[in-house]
Amino acid sequence: MNCLICGSIFQSPPTWRKLFIYEIEPTACNRCLSKFEKTSPEIDFSDFQGTYYEGAVDSVTTFYTYKEAMKSYLHQYKFLQDVALAQVFADELRHVFQAKEGIVVPIPMHPEKLLRRTFAQVDELLSCAGIPFKQLLAKTETNEQGKKTKKERLEAKSLFKVIDKIEAQNYLLFDDIYTTGTTIHHAAKVLKEAGAKRVDAITLIKG
Ligand SMILES: [Zn+2]
Repeated sequence: MNCLICGSIFQSPPTWRKLFIYEIEPTACNRCLSKFEKTSPEIDFSDFQGTYYEGAVDSVTTFYTYKEAMKSYLHQYKFLQDVALAQVFADELRHVFQAKEGIVVPIPMHPEKLLRRTFAQVDELLSCAGIPFKQLLAKTETNEQGKKTKKERLEAKSLFKVIDKIEAQNYLLFDDIYTTGTTIHHAAKVLKEAGAKRVDAITLIKG
């Protein structure tokens, strides 16, 4: 098949695993995949200690650094709207979600942004991996977080509201990238306030 990233033809070698375990076929060649740099899976969010958001997030798990290969992947995926690229990380995401317990909640886009970007990139990553999810949050403002100082971001009103009933259960937030952590902490906080027992987060990239 053709690699979704570089377009070259490649063959995925047959493995013993494939005979016994259902595995999603790779959609990118090894040369392209090897350019994505793994990051340490645990994120330190001590920044939020002593703030209103302390304790909102129980853990964050992430996979890749935000370096050259990932930057160009995200650009092609998000801005050039190459929706097929959602498949590249499907197998990996499926494995990590299977190992965790909770209702999967994607970080939503603001409706105006969704209109511009044409598809919900975060939801699409989950759909491609066959992970069921629930839309339980809505974005309340369009403000670009990047333009604010860290203090302003921490003090800002909640970026999300809950749009459905939250049970005393575990929830798994999912976003494409963890940069300052503001998005994840705001989302986790509203879930906890609405009654969530535990909120863990998974992001593909650490920015
Ligand atoms: Zn390739």
